[in-house]
Amino acid sequence: MHSETSVFRICQEGYAAGLPVYAAVIGSGPVILKDAAGQTVRSVSFDVPETDPASGDAVTVLDLGVLEEGIYTLERGADRRRLSVKPAAWNAVTHALIKGLYYQRCGCGLLPEHAGVYAHPACHTAPAADWEDRSVRRRITGGWHDAGDYGKYIAPGAVAAAHLLYAWKLFPQGCSGDLNIPETGSGVPDILSEARYELEWILKMQRADGAFHHKLTKSHFAPFIMPENDTDPEYVMPVSGTATGSACACLALSARVWRGFDSGFAERMLRAAESAWSWLKAHPDNVPFRNPEGVRTGQYGDWSDLDERFWAACELYAATGEAEYLADAETLYGRGIHPDQFGWADVGGLGALCCLFDLGEEAGEVLYTKLREDLVRAAEGALALSSASGYGTSLPPQGYIWGSILPIMSHAMTMIAASLLTGREDMRDAALLQWDYALGLNALDISFVTGFGVRSVRNPHHRPSGADGVEDPVPGLISGGPNKNHTYPVTREKLGEDLPPARYFLDITPSADTNEIAIYWNSPAVFVSAYLRTLARPE
Ligand SMILES: [Zn+2]
Repeated sequence: MHSETSVFRICQEGYAAGLPVYAAVIGSGPVILKDAAGQTVRSVSFDVPETDPASGDAVTVLDLGVLEEGIYTLERGADRRRLSVKPAAWNAVTHALIKGLYYQRCGCGLLPEHAGVYAHPACHTAPAADWEDRSVRRRITGGWHDAGDYGKYIAPGAVAAAHLLYAWKLFPQGCSGDLNIPETGSGVPDILSEARYELEWILKMQRADGAFHHKLTKSHFAPFIMPENDTDPEYVMPVSGTATGSACACLALSARVWRGFDSGFAERMLRAAESAWSWLKAHPDNVPFRNPEGVRTGQYGDWSDLDERFWAACELYAATGEAEYLADAETLYGRGIHPDQFGWADVGGLGALCCLFDLGEEAGEVLYTKLREDLVRAAEGALALSSASGYGTSLPPQGYIWGSILPIMSHAMTMIAASLLTGREDMRDAALLQWDYALGLNALDISFVTGFGVRSVRNPHHRPSGADGVEDPVPGLISGGPNKNHTYPVTREKLGEDLPPARYFLDITPSADTNEIAIYWNSPAVFVSAYLRTLARPE
């Protein structure tokens, strides 16, 4: 059970030495911060706060500044809450968020020496039938289970892998530690080996003509059983434009990364990306995916593939230097790409990272100068949302959608990019507040990362966590968090209509609408934490 909550909200995993310490306090009246010896370090007075519309709390974010390492106590009247500042504050949680993807591996046994009590035999190893031609059966094993279910989907997987790759490219010292996975000690950073597990599966999902199948799932979601017991037939579902575009982009990016580690693998990925691009050029109109009759697994429908094509053109230019890709990227950007979007449906932000941080000014007037302006403007919007929020969360009250952690982490990524481009510390600090949100600085006083924080999510909508007979959930998985947008009727029954959106959350296993986990929610959190760890005082 969760311990009793207090008026204070903190980053429950502690704070990093060298970075500002933020905490939130509900209500008014001065707050005192004492060190371990009981000496007052800060005395903070502030105006009586207005009610935060997203949470319904009268709450203030306290900027306690940079603090020396140690244990501190926040005090107001009789209410006290301990917090810690330590040199390697986010080391364990960052590595756990990456290793969370290892626990999602499909098609291989998780061994006790890597997975401990969460070990299980190999799952989903039978050949899968082609949905459109059942006489064709292919053995396509590997990849990560997408979320709380056992499906595997190309666009979400490509985006999650790309988050890891950009985290490593931009902030290698923040995410390169050992994870105790089978590849540890191979000479390749573990974060890249983990990404490769997904990339090898993505490669297998390509059709002979270059297109990518949208997903590999069963016709229905499995009950809450372990993956090795989920033996109903799997199907290779039809191809789509968005799957082909995102796989193309991710593989071209990966080809650049692996040139330094495994040139054969890099070459294989680049060839697959080029073949996907040829298919996209031959199919200029989006080929959307809709669940075929009789299929009820995740649809991941996306009615525009322009952003996937844009990202792919950027990555192919970066990988090959061929001018036609740059020209295509410019044209596509002009058709309305959002450079601040990092989710499975809208991937414009990943193309923006390629242009701004890999190509740089070489990308030219549109793809560097204008794109940079557009991104910084979007970051101003994300910063304004954070400033207007009682908890500093970069989300409007109506923004608490299914998987609200994604737009929050996505806004943090945008502000990080803007801070890197401009040197602005206000952007950095607002990104830090989003990380603090994930680890407990929120209305619910909950750390959304399983296994981390004194009040962390205990019952995520995640089949292995529900079925493995182990009391603690699989560690290092981030919950989607509050959602008052598309909620289940049963959630509405339990929580009522009056509860504010930032509190619309149930830490119970059936609540996929508020408490599911997903690979592409872990991955942007890895990007954010890798960045922050590079800023923290050296460990
Ligand atoms: Zn599996």
